[in-house]
Amino acid sequence: MDLSDSAPLAAYRAKIRQWLAENRDHAPIGKPGLHVTDIEPFRAWQKLLAQAGLVGVTWPAEYGGQGLGMIEQAVINSELHRAGLPGALDIIGVGNLAPTVIAHGTSWQKDRHLRPLLQGDEIWCQLFSEPAAGSDVAGIRTRAIRGEGGGWRLNGQKVWTTNAQHAAFGLLLARTDPSVPKHRGLTVFIVPMTAAGVEVRPLRQLTGIAAFNEVFLDDVMLGDEAVLGSVDDGWTVAMTCLMYERFNLLTMLDQIGWQPSMFAEPLRHKLPPHLEQRLASVIVDMLAVRYSGHRALSKVANGEVPGPEAGLGKITLVDAAIRGAQVVTEALGPSALDGEWGYLLAEMQGLRSGGGTDEILLTTIGERVLGLPAEPRLDKERAFNEL
Ligand SMILES: Cc1cc2nc3c(=O)[nH]c(=O)nc-3n(C[C@H](O)[C@H](O)[C@H](O)COP(=O)(O)OP(=O)(O)OC[C@H]3O[C@@H](n4cnc5c(N)ncnc54)[C@H](O)[C@@H]3O)c2cc1C
Repeated sequence: MDLSDSAPLAAYRAKIRQWLAENRDHAPIGKPGLHVTDIEPFRAWQKLLAQAGLVGVTWPAEYGGQGLGMIEQAVINSELHRAGLPGALDIIGVGNLAPTVIAHGTSWQKDRHLRPLLQGDEIWCQLFSEPAAGSDVAGIRTRAIRGEGGGWRLNGQKVWTTNAQHAAFGLLLARTDPSVPKHRGLTVFIVPMTAAGVEVRPLRQLTGIAAFNEVFLDDVMLGDEAVLGSVDDGWTVAMTCLMYERFNLLTMLDQIGWQPSMFAEPLRHKLPPHLEQRLASVIVDMLAVRYSGHRALSKVANGEVPGPEAGLGKITLVDAAIRGAQVVTEALGPSALDGEWGYLLAEMQGLRSGGGTDEILLTTIGERVLGLPAEPRLDKERAFNEL
């Protein structure tokens, strides 16, 4: 595979680099990261990026995107990283939720929601996981019951909802028919987070900040226009969203700034010999993830859909980043834990679960990439209300 830029791509890269150089003074102070607490400067930066065509690059032009490919998105990610600047604030909304609305939404839903999301005026969150349904997301218990005259009444609880405290809308998976097996009888709704009966409670994490939340739904009333896709076919919609989530996690390496240099730089002139091998192994794994990301991008550029192997990139990246942070803190001594490295170590642990746990992703790769026998799933064909 030729990894150098083609002539048009080199021109595109030069254009992005120049724009970032000219506009860097408008960027918020602080490192690019997955979670921010003071969101307003990042919201304004997303708007500026969007107006310059640097957000939603792969979205169709009619919804404010650029109608370009994942390769161009990867160029933007790497140029942002090179310049030490953050990308869009609403990574989940832009990367996973909006593409799901584009794939399954009505014209009204797309016209109403996509542009404000792109510009950062309305942040979105993903309301899938529940206290008893994370890995097994098809086991969710939040109920949506259709009203006699139309519309829906929702009751239930979600958890781990990133950005719910900032969100204007959430994409919510609910059970609409418990009398059929668990993957059927699900429906996805677009929920206004200001609707009566929606309560967001922050969950404080090991990092000290509350980036995710519990969300309670108590008799939340929604109209029929809130349904995304078909009633009882929510699993198809949810799968679209999760597919984007896994793929974006893999190609996000540049955007969140987890690069070999992040671990090698602080150790320049300070690396004791006994840590050299460990750092080398971290760097090799990260480079392997980068080239797997390139392979996935090439697939997409050739019109193919990236397969479940994308999950391996996420597992390897998170594992390598945690090992890298451990090497750095061991080399720099306990004081390193007081600052940025202590924060990163705490934040990285959670990413072993976010976007699918190691065990679940390895099982998927075993079954769908290596063709190993499937895990026994005794609940697959039984009605949900009989489990
Ligand atoms: C930082 C972060 C952000 C998140 N953001 C969101 C969000 O915005 N929206 C959202 O909906 N969710 C979000 N999540 C939730 C995330 O999707 C879940 O944490 C994840 O799916 C795992 O679910 P769980 O935490 O309930 O763990 P469980 O599913 O309870 O798993 C617990 C342990 O059991 C293992 N396990 C479970 N089932 C099996 C099996 N069949 N075989 C082998 N091992 C198994 C798991 O691997 C894990 O080690 C976020 C999570 C994190 C950490």
